[in-house]
Amino acid sequence: MEKQSLFTRAQNVIPGGVNSPVRAFRAVGGTPIFIREASGSKIIDTDGNSYIDYVCSWGPMILGHSHPVVVAAIRDAAGRGSSFGAPTELEINMAERLVAAFPSIEMARMVSSGTEATMTAIRLARGFTGREKIIKFTGCYHGHADSLLVKAGSGVATLGIPGSPGVPKSLAELTITLPYNDAEAVRSAATRYGDEIACIIVEPVAGNMGVVQPKPGFLETLREVTHANGSLLIFDEVITGFRLAYGGWQTLTGILPDLTCLGKIIGGGLPVGALGGRREVMEHLAPVGPVYQAGTLSGNPLAMTAGIATLDILKEKSYPELEKMTERLCAGFADLFRGKDIPARINRVGSLFTLFFTADEVVDFETASRSDTALFARFFQGMLAAGINLAPAQFEAGFVSFSHTEDDINRTLSACAKVLKTL
Ligand SMILES: *Cc1c(COP(=O)(O)O)cnc(C)c1O
Repeated sequence: MEKQSLFTRAQNVIPGGVNSPVRAFRAVGGTPIFIREASGSKIIDTDGNSYIDYVCSWGPMILGHSHPVVVAAIRDAAGRGSSFGAPTELEINMAERLVAAFPSIEMARMVSSGTEATMTAIRLARGFTGREKIIKFTGCYHGHADSLLVKAGSGVATLGIPGSPGVPKSLAELTITLPYNDAEAVRSAATRYGDEIACIIVEPVAGNMGVVQPKPGFLETLREVTHANGSLLIFDEVITGFRLAYGGWQTLTGILPDLTCLGKIIGGGLPVGALGGRREVMEHLAPVGPVYQAGTLSGNPLAMTAGIATLDILKEKSYPELEKMTERLCAGFADLFRGKDIPARINRVGSLFTLFFTADEVVDFETASRSDTALFARFFQGMLAAGINLAPAQFEAGFVSFSHTEDDINRTLSACAKVLKTL
């Protein structure tokens, strides 16, 4: 078992053996698989096992792994130099695509991760408004910047407590955490803190407590409240950006934020993030304005190349087809679970889905938390053993890519049928 010895070696020199915690399988137990290579909808581990992959690098690989056009573009770009620390035309080409795709984006700044995008968005919102408090929602993940690593306290508009040691209390206190989908809580926080609030940041479709759809009126309320009190609305579309439509959730709904955070898909599998919004706000960033932000590898030519190649392919793709495939997968899951009397809720938006092991409707973090995580862990391990790679934690999204086939879906469902017999 190669993965065992690799994991032992890894744990010796990398905390927990991983460079991002969820990869360590702590929520499901056992030893993480180490990936050797991947192509299309399949990943192959170092033990030679092949899996149908519904993690897709946590979202970026919407075209599937190693898409030949993207690979060729990266190869070609690498031969011409991998970083210059000076402007390139590629960065303009990328920014122009983002501006064209997103109705609310007039200018964009490229960074190297989603975390950098949200961190910058918060700083920019504070710098633009001259205010310090921010509102986020419990169970929404916006990367690991200090201000955003805050979980909910109890009650409606509880001042934040640090979600991680190392986040200063004085900073966490500026983060107000509210329940997702609770428009009333937003209204009462706005009444209480109105002109102290710099911004509200939200995943327009939540993906990091598992997939949770916004209730009708929720995002509209955020837009209305921020307009009324002069704060900024930030959509974190790091997952949803080019996932739910070319142009993200805002394109589908017409609800337009002041700032949009992007990442994942726009890097085509390379490390990228971006921040975009109204010119008036974006020009508060240095060097035009006083809000500082920088990055040695920002707008990196390889990352821009992979991202542009990905976006140009996506532009020609049918998102409804991708959705239909995912719908069929989820309908299949639902049938199998119904037949087994195992409580399950399947939330799906576009090609994002989560199978919650709970009988209750999941509308926020509290209801998501009712899931039977022990049962999920057994399901996960069964599926993995059957060649299906799901996210190794209950509170995550599953991702279907354009490279998944009907055959993949059928094989996934027959694996599921077998696994359910063992639960
Ligand atoms: C992944 C993610 C981030 C953070 O992006 P990184 O590139 O991992 O820093 C931020 N927001 C959302 C909604 C995400 O899913």
